[in-house]
Amino acid sequence: MQRSPRRLILVLGDQLAEDHPAVASMDRTRDLVLMIESRGEAVHVWSHKARIAIFLAAMRHRRDAWLAAGVPLRYLALEDAAAEGDTLVGRLQAELRELQPRALVLLEPGEWRLERAIREVAEAAGVDLEQLPDPHFMCSRDDFVRWASRSKAGSLRMEFFYREQRRQHEVLMEADGTPAGGQWNFDADNRAAFPKTGPGEIPPPARFEPDATTREVLALVEREFAEHPGSLASFGWAVTRADALVALERFVETRLASFGRYQDAMWSDTPWGWHSLLSSSLNLHLLDPREVIAAAERAWREGRAPLEGVEGFVRQILGWREFIRGVYWLEMPRLAEANHYGHRRALPAWYWTGKTRMACLADAIGQTLAHGYAHHIQRLMVTGLFALLAEVEPKQVADWYLAVYVDAIEWVELPNVAGMTLFADGGRFTSKPYIASGAYIDRQSNHCRHCPYSPKLRSGNDACPFTVLYWRFVDRHEKALLGNPRTVFMAKNLARLSSEQRQAIRSESERVLAQIESL
Ligand code: FAD
Ligand code: SF4
Repeated sequence: MQRSPRRLILVLGDQLAEDHPAVASMDRTRDLVLMIESRGEAVHVWSHKARIAIFLAAMRHRRDAWLAAGVPLRYLALEDAAAEGDTLVGRLQAELRELQPRALVLLEPGEWRLERAIREVAEAAGVDLEQLPDPHFMCSRDDFVRWASRSKAGSLRMEFFYREQRRQHEVLMEADGTPAGGQWNFDADNRAAFPKTGPGEIPPPARFEPDATTREVLALVEREFAEHPGSLASFGWAVTRADALVALERFVETRLASFGRYQDAMWSDTPWGWHSLLSSSLNLHLLDPREVIAAAERAWREGRAPLEGVEGFVRQILGWREFIRGVYWLEMPRLAEANHYGHRRALPAWYWTGKTRMACLADAIGQTLAHGYAHHIQRLMVTGLFALLAEVEPKQVADWYLAVYVDAIEWVELPNVAGMTLFADGGRFTSKPYIASGAYIDRQSNHCRHCPYSPKLRSGNDACPFTVLYWRFVDRHEKALLGNPRTVFMAKNLARLSSEQRQAIRSESERVLAQIESL
């Protein structure tokens, strides 16, 4: 290898596909791969230890596999960082200065901030930048922009995007061009709660005993990020492609069949439910979404899983995941600042400890801190719903979500938090704010049975804070809810109350918000 590589290929920590296109096509005599660990990425938000560990462990395994395959590679480990406040971009800048490549090559990053910073660094160093489309995604950024420009002004709806993706990629389609089973969406079949007696026996998801490389990372994280939230005691996430393939196969063979039915169900001490736990493997690019979708479709065609659940699963990946990514790039940077309702409250401190008497929140946050994982309905309708109803500033909520989940990368986290959960963008891609009272959580879980609060009460010390704050939300946004066919029933229910009852809602909710830290 000559001293100055022709092309310096920067492989980011969430682009670890073994067939990374720039690595696959590199000239090994003249090009060099660069991988950078950085403290800055771990402290940019106050990251859960498991989130830091999964990235570092997956990167180090990819490094070892490429080195074993003879790929020329320079790896900057976190331990070798010169300064405390080291950032990825700072380390890249130093490398460009030292190596003086002719071009810097990378795939589209998963973060707007990083994309801009890398462009600026390359420009300042006088190095050509080749940013390639990321083939991991089934809908390119350009294609999404084209799709969005054809949508009705101001409204982007996942359902229409999803149908187009199904047709284009021929997923769950009949030969005559109609959707399998005669309908696009089986959502109505996918909302069951667990039986009153509980979820019963659920086959466990694949978890992986840390090998020597991962153990080294876990020790490093405990040492370097001791004050960070979360635990590593149960760390069992897939950090290699081989692990991820085992996790996929285990899910499809043992859990997919009931995934759809219980997708929205919650139960105490049941952190995984029937979910796939594949998001981190997908987001690190250890799995390709096409192979995950194909495995699920095959299970249905071979009679091993029902169409309703398979369609629900496919919709999450081919629909929501691709749609969310498109929205992120379309809406940045304004999405990061969006605050439709002007909410300004601070995130309660117990989001970082799980120490609240509210059983549903204690359970969701507790498992988040233990595993770096909560499933969708916990994120949307427990931690997220509470933050919306408690009028927490969207930026603080987004920073928490970006910090605490092993699958958190801004392109997927931010639209889910700011757009879907907090309606902070005023409904650019959702048709209504997802609000509910404690009755929803009571219906979908057993939490209220173990809670000092009562989901039915909207006043008094035993009143469920979700219920009290739900009525406050409806009261404050009555006009907007009245004008939306999907929320009009909420405003109509409010209209049935007397003015004394409405006044009580206001004073009760002020009381709840005043004692939010001790709920
Ligand atoms: P499953 O329930 O088994 O679903 C299968 C797959 O579908 C997931 O692995 C994921 O890749 C995809 N998927 C499902 N829903 C979504 C969605 N709304 N957006 C994008 N992909 C989806 N997902 C992340 O990957 N990273 C995040 O940082 C993230 N933050 C979220 C924050 C909030 C407030 C909400 C409401 C959702 C968030 N999601 C995020 C989406 C979703 O909750 C997770 O993908 C899912 O819980 C991961 O668990 P799983 O792999 O067991 O998913
Ligand atoms: Fe959560 Fe309210 Fe039910 Fe308690 S009563 S578990 S706070 S929804």
